[in-house]
Amino acid sequence: MVRIAIINKENCSPRECGDFLCKRVCPVNRQGKECIVTSVDHKAQINEELCIGCGICVPKCPFKAIDIINLPESLKDDPIHRFGKNQFALFSLPTPVMGKVVGIIGRNGIGKSTAIKILAGILKPNLGKEKEATYKEIIDFFKGTETHAFFEKVRDGEIKISYKPQNVDLIPKTAKGIVEELLKKVDERGMFDKIVELLELKNILKNNIKEISGGELQRVAIAATVLRKANLYIFDEPTSYLDIKQRLKVAKFIRTLADEKTAVLVIEHDLIALDYMADVVHIMYGKQGRFGVVALPRATKTAINTYLEGYLKDENVRFRDKKILFDIKAPSTIKKSNMMTSWPKLSKQLGKFKLEANEGIIMRKEIIGILGENGIGKTTFVKLLSGTEKPDYGKIELNVKVSYKPQYLNSESEELVMVVLADALRKHKSDIIAPLDLEPLLDKQINQLSGGELQRVAIAEALAKDCNLVLLDEPSAYLDVEQRLILSKIISDIVPLRGISVLVVDHDLLFLDYLSEKLMVFNGTPAIHGVANGPFTMEDGMNKLLKEVSITMRRDEFSGRPRINKEGSVKDREQKSKGKYYYS
Ligand code: SF4
Ligand code: SF4
Repeated sequence: MVRIAIINKENCSPRECGDFLCKRVCPVNRQGKECIVTSVDHKAQINEELCIGCGICVPKCPFKAIDIINLPESLKDDPIHRFGKNQFALFSLPTPVMGKVVGIIGRNGIGKSTAIKILAGILKPNLGKEKEATYKEIIDFFKGTETHAFFEKVRDGEIKISYKPQNVDLIPKTAKGIVEELLKKVDERGMFDKIVELLELKNILKNNIKEISGGELQRVAIAATVLRKANLYIFDEPTSYLDIKQRLKVAKFIRTLADEKTAVLVIEHDLIALDYMADVVHIMYGKQGRFGVVALPRATKTAINTYLEGYLKDENVRFRDKKILFDIKAPSTIKKSNMMTSWPKLSKQLGKFKLEANEGIIMRKEIIGILGENGIGKTTFVKLLSGTEKPDYGKIELNVKVSYKPQYLNSESEELVMVVLADALRKHKSDIIAPLDLEPLLDKQINQLSGGELQRVAIAEALAKDCNLVLLDEPSAYLDVEQRLILSKIISDIVPLRGISVLVVDHDLLFLDYLSEKLMVFNGTPAIHGVANGPFTMEDGMNKLLKEVSITMRRDEFSGRPRINKEGSVKDREQKSKGKYYYS
């Protein structure tokens, strides 16, 4: 297969384009052949065997409904699945391996969840044809590969799969009741007590599933997955909603699940967590909503470095024009004239919760990462800085104009994206709207957006506001790995240009490491007492955090990215004895 034609049926409107304009311009149709035809639902349909890939129809369609895609030359096989004629095509599948944690990285919208659903037996592939394939056809399709052996086992009933879905927020819609009862119901391994302890679920066992937070829901979903008896555990984005400590714990936990009779498959956008969990990783590439390809597995370290590089050498495919490199940041020297704001010791009581802040300074043009558990007072702290809340103790001399993107976004609004982003469209088309790929969303209503789309709109809105300090609370949530890297670049570009400072609360350590020059660390007990410390240099801040979770990190020699040391390894012991948990 050399090329595929994609028709966006929602956009295709033959009545409004002048009765199949594409048919009239297609040179193959003009020769009297049936390249573009009318489908049963009265939309355009392209016969891929006859299409010569001239691309004439693409710009002619007034509704951008057609895409003609030349597939990479290295792609020899037919798709494993296609969602219909001229629809998304998935090529190949990741291969589960007993005793190993196999990871998957790649953009959203290129078929990761589809691939998982096929392996999990939820979706029967059609091998690009019109009807479901039989097991014999699937097994023949994968002849000579490891996936062949896997599907033989599926056919013989030897594979039992337990699957944690991506959207844990949908769980309360189907599972109803008390957490303890729900988990006991699925405990086929008699490991309820152990898993509850490992995933720290004791405090919420008596709660109703619909009342627990996103992070709690995520851990309950992971617990329910591993309590089931299975020999293939699949986790679709197991760290979203989790704070940094929980991420590291969950990553550690998932690592322990693979043994000689058990395989584990993980889709993950947090590259530090993935690096820690996985033995091998499949990179997925393609074009969003058009096609996706699962590359052959690589050792985790190589796979993540290759991903950051943006070029798959073996496949000769470039999927990003720039490689991502992690620069070593020198601690900045503080010049008082460049100060944005400062604060002495502060405290603020809000109901049962008390926030205390140790003294600190934010300089102009600084990007400061903020790490801390949820419910620890990060938002309260920013409200104090902006003057919307007054401290009970201490006084902030210099209030700054703050633009704030909250953690939880309002998805109910019927407003159009182009109205919400009016400011950004006027002033920041090239530095915010274009790189965040927001043009295609402008005509949609806020309540029609997916989690990732809503996040990008909210980030753009906050960054475009007239202000001196922007606070982004968990901007990486729902963004894929590529979008996180793009966002880092946008922020790093606009900060020096506009002379603003940005505070970024996030739990993705790689994202924060790439972006921030300094770090604030919040500690204490969520919902009771929080203490804001810093800003520190990245090294000091990370040292404080990593010491608490007893994890050390080194820098990868090729990409410069931080990596977690194996517990008890020579490096881990050496760094701990020196008190150097993190290298800047
Ligand atoms: Fe008209 Fe475009 Fe649909 Fe062709 S694809 S029928 S040009 S709307
Ligand atoms: Fe016809 Fe294919 Fe050319 Fe489009 S790209 S005009 S469908 S031959």
